Amino acid sequence: MTTLFTAEQINARIHQLASEIDASYPSGAPLHLVAVLKGAFVFLSDLARALAPRPVTLDFIAVSSYGAATKSSGEVRLLKDLDAPLQGRDVIIVEDIVDTGLTLSYLQDVMRARDPKSLRTACLLSKPSRRKVDVQVEYIGFEIEDKFVVGYGLDHAGQFRHLPFIGIQDDLT
Ligand code: IMP
Repeated sequence: MTTLFTAEQINARIHQLASEIDASYPSGAPLHLVAVLKGAFVFLSDLARALAPRPVTLDFIAVSSYGAATKSSGEVRLLKDLDAPLQGRDVIIVEDIVDTGLTLSYLQDVMRARDPKSLRTACLLSKPSRRKVDVQVEYIGFEIEDKFVVGYGLDHAGQFRHLPFIGIQDDLT
C-alpha cells in the first residue's frame, strides 16, 4: 500500500473545507449533516468538529456497498433511513468518495424529496474520470485518479477503515 494523503494533509484540507462551508451559510445558522455509512464516519467526525462553534446536528443513512468487489454494480439500496425529518433544514450530505456518482445521485433524489431548506454535498474524495452520472458536489476535499483507495473510513472488504491515512492498493486497480 502506498500513502496518498497523510493524516496531517487530510486534517489540513478538512479545516479548509470547514471554513469554506462556514463562509457559505449565514453566521450562526444551524447545519444538519447527514453522513453516509459506513465510509463517511471518520470524515463526519472531523468535519463536524471543525465546524464548531456553529450549531450542528447529525444523522446517518446507510446504502448498499460494493461488498467484497471494488467496482460499482450500479445498484443502490437503502439499508438504513434517517432518524429525523429534513424539512426546512440546511442539509449537507457527507460522503467519503464520489466515484461513478450513482450512490450520491440516488441519495440526493431521496433527500430532495423530503423538502429541506437547502441541500448540498461534501465529499472528501472524488474520482472525476469514473463519473457515470453528472452529480453536483459543492465541497470536494481532493480529486484523485482512478485508483482504489482505503483508510480514513474507506474499506476494502470491510478492512482498513481505521487507518488514519489514505492509501492506494496498487494491485486492485
Ligand atoms: P459511486 O456510487 O460509484 O459514486 O460509489 C460511491 C461509493 O463506492 C463510496 O461511498 C464508497 O463506499 C465506494 N467506493 C468507490 N471508490 C472507492 C475506493 O476507491 N475505495 C473504497 N470505496 C470506494
